[in-house]
Amino acid sequence: MQLRYSFRVYPTPGQQQSLARAFGCARVVYNDALRVREVARKAGEPFVPSAVLSKQLTAAKKTDERVWLSEVSSVVLQQSLRDLDTAYRNFFDGLKGKRPKMGPPRFKSRKDNRQSIRFTANANWRITTGGKLRLPKIGDVRVKWSRQLPSAPRTVTVVKDAAGRYFASFVVDTGDETSLPETDGQVGVDLGLTHFAILSDGTKIDSPRFLRRAEKKLKRAQQNLSRKQKGSRNRGKARIKVARAHAKVADARREFHHQLSTKLIRENQAVAVEDLAVKGLARTRLAKSVQDAGWAQFVSMLEYKAARYGRTFTRIGRFEPTSQVCSVCGVKDGPKPLNVRVWTCGACGAVLDRDINAAVNVAKAAGLAVTACGAQIRPAPVPAQRRETGTHRRPAPVGQ
Ligand SMILES: [Zn+2]
Repeated sequence: MQLRYSFRVYPTPGQQQSLARAFGCARVVYNDALRVREVARKAGEPFVPSAVLSKQLTAAKKTDERVWLSEVSSVVLQQSLRDLDTAYRNFFDGLKGKRPKMGPPRFKSRKDNRQSIRFTANANWRITTGGKLRLPKIGDVRVKWSRQLPSAPRTVTVVKDAAGRYFASFVVDTGDETSLPETDGQVGVDLGLTHFAILSDGTKIDSPRFLRRAEKKLKRAQQNLSRKQKGSRNRGKARIKVARAHAKVADARREFHHQLSTKLIRENQAVAVEDLAVKGLARTRLAKSVQDAGWAQFVSMLEYKAARYGRTFTRIGRFEPTSQVCSVCGVKDGPKPLNVRVWTCGACGAVLDRDINAAVNVAKAAGLAVTACGAQIRPAPVPAQRRETGTHRRPAPVGQ
């Protein structure tokens, strides 16, 4: 199985210039190729194959306008063409319904938040004995190795994010994983609005303090930015602060998702999660996109960790009405407004916690053996047996 490992890197000012040039060249190659395909499409001509684009790139390097493309590793430019192919494939697969729909490839801009280039094995990049990252036509870049790579990586992507930080991201083959010891644990997870996650055993999980603190700082930075005069130098500074705070929140969130997904996979043999598409109700667009992105990241971590450690992972389809069904008796009780946090089942009388009930239903829909105990605030009142009504209950006789 393949995993991605990212490390912060610290290029010197000179290396930063070389990287900026490489980002720029990769972008130009991408945009040139996209333009060729767009022109062909508008003229009603067939899709231009990548081999043709590759030949055009080689020819372009010999022209005066594009001669500077030779200043960067040719692998970087070829990989940029590959990225365009991937973008097209994703777009076409979306149209065919093989994956979520997405827009056609778009032109890249130097103002994009994320700039990146990729080196494959062909590019002769390597990790030096001194632990630096040697990149062709860029140099030996200092890396902060925060953990050990499980095996030698084949490709490295160098990324510059919106906060001006640089990262090296390696794709590593992890080989056969040693599975975790088997457990009896089975759990359904409901991703909520009031809590980050609710488990079918009744546990409610909120985002940790380090994430909330980072979010608070981001909010303050954004308020500060909005007070600054447009075009002023202070506004420029405030904008960088916002970008940094954004990056910190993203890091903190990823860290939290790692911690929680590892814990769930470690403690459970089977994990079930509701498909996220159901959740799109009653939220503003911004809040929705932010939250969905976070959930998607968390769910994909659960999925790959489950695969890695031999656990069962199930995604429950979007048409299971998990919040409408009583997890005790299974009767569908109809939709309830979001502000209803606790409800009483009309059929069996169980008093249910909305979120935990949903998590239990997610687990049940996945065929997991969980009980509805956690979902019940109060169990259904047990109807009195006929012959007991009207009589005083005597304590059961103690055995002799
Ligand atoms: Zn019921």
